[in-house]
Amino acid sequence: MAFNSASLPPMTTTTKTFASLNLADPIQQALKEAGYEKPTPIQEQAIPVVLQGHDLLGIAQTGTGKTAAFSLPILNHLFLNRKRREGKSPRVLILTPTRELALQIHKNLLAYGKHLGQKYAVIFGGVGQGNQVRDLSMGVEVLVATPGRLLDLLQQKHIRLDKLEVFVLDEADRMLDMGFMRDIQKILPLLPAVRHNLFFSATMPKEIQELANTILRNPKKIEVTPPATVVKKIKQSVLFVERKEKLNLLVHLLKENNLLYKVLVFVEMKHHANKVAEKLEKNGISASAIHGNKSQGARQRALQEFTDDKIRVLVATDIASRGIDIDGITHVINFDLPNVPESYVHRIGRTARAGSEGDAISLCALDEKFYLYAIEKETRTQIPVNTNHPYHSESVARAAVQPPPKRGGGGGGHRGQGRGGSGSGGSKRGGSGGGAGRSFGKGGGKKGGFKKR
Ligand code: AMP
Repeated sequence: MAFNSASLPPMTTTTKTFASLNLADPIQQALKEAGYEKPTPIQEQAIPVVLQGHDLLGIAQTGTGKTAAFSLPILNHLFLNRKRREGKSPRVLILTPTRELALQIHKNLLAYGKHLGQKYAVIFGGVGQGNQVRDLSMGVEVLVATPGRLLDLLQQKHIRLDKLEVFVLDEADRMLDMGFMRDIQKILPLLPAVRHNLFFSATMPKEIQELANTILRNPKKIEVTPPATVVKKIKQSVLFVERKEKLNLLVHLLKENNLLYKVLVFVEMKHHANKVAEKLEKNGISASAIHGNKSQGARQRALQEFTDDKIRVLVATDIASRGIDIDGITHVINFDLPNVPESYVHRIGRTARAGSEGDAISLCALDEKFYLYAIEKETRTQIPVNTNHPYHSESVARAAVQPPPKRGGGGGGHRGQGRGGSGSGGSKRGGSGGGAGRSFGKGGGKKGGFKKR
């Protein structure tokens, strides 16, 4: 089945031109060929700062154009300061948490640098190292790497970082989530003391601020999206459902509505990803699963099929989905609600990419209401309830919030936090299908706290 993902509205850009940002002609030419007309806000702000040689602290999530924001001035620097390539010694290191993101950045470098005659390599685990070592030995200007494989090849002396000029740490908060802090601490001492540092994170929890302080020198700070702000163009809804009916509800949603034509479904557990994809396939809905237990080849294949609209649904875990940059995802469905509110923001940001619109649908079972409240509090939004489906569970909708299920993490101490919304007390929650919906602060008249809804 072919799904049309064309005719998306253009990305939010500024009124400036790339020419006014003093990028070299061959870079401007490549941008034109890539269809970029104007810089995005982070590009407009970051490019001049990086061209001037300042360290940068960029607070921005994927989808803002941050890859070009750091790549373009780096490529410009390399173009203006050409040097003979030396085997094993990259001049720029871009460290990124996932293979998918590493590949995406590499792909972008190839596009932006297509007229520059520079070499870019990408290394990540889960595949043989032979080709990666060969690329590196011939010499590259820029190396894109995930932390584990980088350390591996450093230890085997296939890479030296003593000639490094620019160090980019991308998606630092996700590095923390994925347990890469120790690897990063091992990599940092191997970098030359004098270097240019660019540091990006979607959010700035305390550990990340501390890491930034150890890496950056007098950085300029640029923030394009406040932490945990949900992109406005995403239409959100929550559907209350008994856990055992979730698969049926998912099938129903996909069968009933063919506007759901490029759908990313999030699950919490790897084995659930397979189960969900199988159920969809059985019901004639083309689907694949990606998660950490799948080989790199299988993950790439599934991503490619999804990108090319050969399958309609991609079922993913959070980690596997990180860095997915696929245009035209019409819907993100949270089959399970994440236990960390920031994951919700990241997940639903996979739709409404590059300024287009998108829908985020969350299936919420009884034991997930706790997470729903945490998400609403963090994002300072009330997610409308959709009761207009055959699996709506009134008892889940009305039930009091339970303590969080044991999924790990948890982020305790939520009790009594209420909705945290100033000024919204007592507002009625509109269920789009009429009927129950939810109401806050009504009836009991109590403020705050996880009340029944
Ligand atoms: P990123 O946040 O770097 O993952 O970029 C998100 C998407 O926006 C990618 O598909 C980029 O190719 C695209 N993009 C980045 N900058 C621009 C721009 N100035 N104009 C149009 N598209 C862009």
